[in-house]
Amino acid sequence: MRDPSRQDEGNSEAGASGSDGRFAPSLTGPLHLGNLRTALLAWLFARSAGAGFLVRVEDLDRSRVRPGVEEGQLADLRAIGLDWDGPVVRQSERMELYEEAIARLDADGLLYPCYCTRAEIRAAASAPHGIPAADRYPGTCRELTKAERAEREAAGRPPALRVRSEGVRVIFEDRLLGRFEDEVDDFVVRRNDGTPAYQLAVVVDDAAQGVGEVVRGADLADSTPRQILLTRLLGLTEPAYAHVPLVLGPDGRRLAKRHGAVTLSERAARGEGPERIRAWMACSLGLAEAGEKPTPGDLLGRFDPTRLPREPTVWSAV
Ligand SMILES: [Zn+2]
Repeated sequence: MRDPSRQDEGNSEAGASGSDGRFAPSLTGPLHLGNLRTALLAWLFARSAGAGFLVRVEDLDRSRVRPGVEEGQLADLRAIGLDWDGPVVRQSERMELYEEAIARLDADGLLYPCYCTRAEIRAAASAPHGIPAADRYPGTCRELTKAERAEREAAGRPPALRVRSEGVRVIFEDRLLGRFEDEVDDFVVRRNDGTPAYQLAVVVDDAAQGVGEVVRGADLADSTPRQILLTRLLGLTEPAYAHVPLVLGPDGRRLAKRHGAVTLSERAARGEGPERIRAWMACSLGLAEAGEKPTPGDLLGRFDPTRLPREPTVWSAV
């Protein structure tokens, strides 16, 4: 159940300054060094600008949330020296906000039900004509007649809700990536199990929490045009974006569990405490010399977003 006091907190943050930063991990597992470096960067962007810094946990996908993960993540953020303002916000306690946004889009005629299964979308996407990217929705259900919808409803298929994007191209200026542009497909705002989609929740939350700049991993840049479109359709204020370089494993793939000891506790078990990990992160970002152990305050004093590396860092033991 939603805790009303939390929503009130969310509302009171809204529009305060509209300049806060945030870190918003999903609760699918412990943070690895790449996640932690992104958190450090988000904190540095916000704090160096004198802005607030918020932590929000993305726990809408209940099937993927593991008990105890939130506590572990927050402990790790503290261990590397990060602090944040106000209580941690949980998406699972803000359902009403998301439903309200979905209802507004629907009232404006911007949504339609989609009955496709994943397999059907994949099959349509790989058809010889059109050649949309594999995860792009080909528009199968966009123009279904009432009768066609009734037929699918009768077959017992619960629909997802998709937004009519009209194939609009969204252009934005990322602080690190520069000009970024993509065509937006008709993406899902409510899944067929009734859960608000990540794309919708993140947009609603960033606006409600007064986030002025979204700092997150470069792997999320591709979903930004969708989020900007939603921001516009909902009449919300667009945040600025800075997509920061990722940490990769030695195989060149995004750092993950398969790369071995990549969490704070796994490194600690090898005798590398959080200061050592923070020093590695700082070094990898050009904010410290090898052998130095900078404090978070040291890093704040040295931080200059324009001098950040633009290339990913390959993880190797510290
Ligand atoms: Zn469909």
